[in-house]
Amino acid sequence: MIVNITTSFSFLLVLATVLYDFYSKKKVKSLENNYFIILTYLNVVALILDIVIYTVVLITNDTFINFIFIKILLIYYLIFMAILLMYFYIVSNKIKSNKNIKYIKTKKTVFLIYFITVLLVFFFPNINNIYNYNILLSEDIVYFVYFTGMVSLFIIFYIIKKNIKNITKQNYVVIFIIFLFGILSVIVQFYIPELLLIIPVHTLVILLIYFSIENPDLKLVKKLEKINKKYLVASNAKTEFLSNMSHEMRTPLNVINGLTESLLYNEKLDNKTKEDLENIKKASIALLETVGNILDIDKIENKKINIKNEVYNIKHIMDNTINLNKERLKNKDVKIFCEIDKNMPTYFKGDPIYIKTIFTNLISNACKYTNKGIISINLSYKNSNIIFIVKDTGIGISKSNQKLLFKKFSRLDLKNNIKIEGTGLGLAIVKELVGNLKGSIKVESKVNKGSIFTIILKQTKVDYKSKKSKSLVNTINLKNKKILIVDDNDLNILVLKRMLNKTNVIIDEAHDGLECLNKLNKNKYDLVLMDIMMPKLSGVETLSKISNKNFPIIAVTADALKTSKDKYIKLGFDDYIQKPVSKDYLLEVINIHI
Ligand code: ADP
Repeated sequence: MIVNITTSFSFLLVLATVLYDFYSKKKVKSLENNYFIILTYLNVVALILDIVIYTVVLITNDTFINFIFIKILLIYYLIFMAILLMYFYIVSNKIKSNKNIKYIKTKKTVFLIYFITVLLVFFFPNINNIYNYNILLSEDIVYFVYFTGMVSLFIIFYIIKKNIKNITKQNYVVIFIIFLFGILSVIVQFYIPELLLIIPVHTLVILLIYFSIENPDLKLVKKLEKINKKYLVASNAKTEFLSNMSHEMRTPLNVINGLTESLLYNEKLDNKTKEDLENIKKASIALLETVGNILDIDKIENKKINIKNEVYNIKHIMDNTINLNKERLKNKDVKIFCEIDKNMPTYFKGDPIYIKTIFTNLISNACKYTNKGIISINLSYKNSNIIFIVKDTGIGISKSNQKLLFKKFSRLDLKNNIKIEGTGLGLAIVKELVGNLKGSIKVESKVNKGSIFTIILKQTKVDYKSKKSKSLVNTINLKNKKILIVDDNDLNILVLKRMLNKTNVIIDEAHDGLECLNKLNKNKYDLVLMDIMMPKLSGVETLSKISNKNFPIIAVTADALKTSKDKYIKLGFDDYIQKPVSKDYLLEVINIHI
């Protein structure tokens, strides 16, 4: 008897600690929560009764009190099983509201059945043998209560199995342990009746539930996981939408950019028209840059970065980038200088697109955020590392803002920068790309004094002789050569035609894959420029239908960031030109293959 009192007392202390822990934490109020609380309080009351009545019986040896206690104990057991059954019903069916019709019906049925069993126990005329602690096993009513308990356990097990998809593997294991516990305790109780296991076993069940399902910390973690998952899905959907939109925007932007560029070649333009055209070009370049950044961040977030390993001309990339950005400095009192170390190699092996993205973002930032003074760019090569430094005398970045510089979508100092176009993606992309290329980036900056961005990239130099490294714009002559341009978009064809207009080349056009195949059957061409995304027959399908290919076919695609040159070469193309097409690059590629 003393053992029973001390056991109950220790369990009471443990339960008090759990309750303290439960109430001291922030938690989400729910139906299952309420049932768990009822279970706990029931058990607390039973433990207190256990201690009080045992003590009284120990002191007074009063048989009547003992008799009442056993009746209360049996009734408590039935109520506990009813609540436990309802608890697992709610958990496994994920019932959130007490207005749920299915829940109300089940609750009524369960409580009615258990109420009848409680009445039966209450009015059962007599429990004999009350002096004997074996009493718990000596009466039919006791067997009846144990039988009800067993049935309840099997019903719980059945409910859980039926709703197994709603229960995590970990919780399923816990529920299975509780089930085993229940069965074992009844068997042990049967053979060692003086142990009086019911109340302590219930305490253990409560503890198991608490540490596996009901702990507010666990619930909070699960809730956060859910929110995080939802957030990720929403964020991915947003990036995917932006990236699809950007992809669609590239083709028309390419047309605007290309046509503006070719219009600017006309020497007869008056100053006003020239200025307007330059502004259109400036705006379309800025837009193309934004679109490029969105496509890049999409690639980075979806881990689609695929670093190429091809020969590129770094001086060419630098020239192009500076030329594009010079537009931004018009109407500003800013001079831009580029110093390339005399020992700087020209050709490297690596990823020209990403190198260009890094250069473009840093140089365009220097141009955007400098209103007066000098931008100096320095390019050198030491110990197999390209060192690229961009120094400006611009608005600078405060120490606190420097920490946020590389975060996605972070546009800083908006009070002063609100009129400057930007997405806050550029430096986040640069940081990721530099990391992917195993390089490093450093920033030094002072407000109103300027900034210095230093990038170190490991790249291998190569000795490579290009057919012609100088700009070909005015030198290439393709007299008597015939090129077929295949594109479903007339404006794209127009852009390419204008770009080739000084080369004296003969140009023919086809507006889809079938027309291309027809023309190839009838005429002889020296080179084909083939768009990829075309209705009916794509560029790749058209290529596969060409039977005797004895001329170069160049893929020209807006899908530039998502595919690699290698992919198109593997598909059978001789080379690949990325849209928006650069005039210099177009002429260089044609010059190599024709
Ligand atoms: P964006 O220029 O599109 O806003 P970035 O990621 O390239 O995005 O740059 C993030 C922010 O860092 C900019 O909004 C700007 O406030 C600041 N910043 C970047 N480069 C410079 C610079 N050279 N001088 C001053 N501020 C800069």
